[in-house]
Amino acid sequence: MLAEMAIMIYNMESIVYRTAVDYDLHKDISRQSAIVKFYCSESLDKIVDFAVQIHGGMGYSQELPIERIYRDSRINRIFEGTNEIQKGIIAREVIKKNGKV
Ligand SMILES: Cc1cc2nc3c(=O)[nH]c(=O)nc-3n(C[C@H](O)[C@H](O)[C@H](O)COP(=O)(O)OP(=O)(O)OC[C@H]3O[C@@H](n4cnc5c(N)ncnc54)[C@H](O)[C@@H]3O)c2cc1C
Repeated sequence: MLAEMAIMIYNMESIVYRTAVDYDLHKDISRQSAIVKFYCSESLDKIVDFAVQIHGGMGYSQELPIERIYRDSRINRIFEGTNEIQKGIIAREVIKKNGKV
């Protein structure tokens, strides 16, 4: 679980930095930012879920902050454009570019 968490964190950092570079180069980042929002919010949920699992019952207990982080992470798939809407944006861009990503 720790390895999978590390992989997702590495991937998240990579796509955030790559998109930030494209933004600084004044490129259109509408597709990339939707990918970043979707991937990071989905990954965060998985990472926090692993954190709960690693700590067993204590991870679920309000005695540790993990339970609060677990609840708080969930909203990221809903606000700032739900992840279903992000997928719509990504798919539209893929179609516009004839399948190129
Ligand atoms: C804690 C919190 C803070 C918030 N802060 C802000 C804020 O600061 N500013 C602000 O403007 N808003 C804010 N919101 C509102 C938030 O942006 C909306 O909840 C969000 O956009 C989803 O809209 P909705 O709740 O009306 O759900 P709906 O639009 O009713 O969506 C319900 C479900 O249907 C899906 N769905 C809807 N349309 C489609 C479609 N075309 N294709 C596929 N699936 C679809 C959605 O993905 C979702 O799963 C906040 C919400 C919460 C809970």
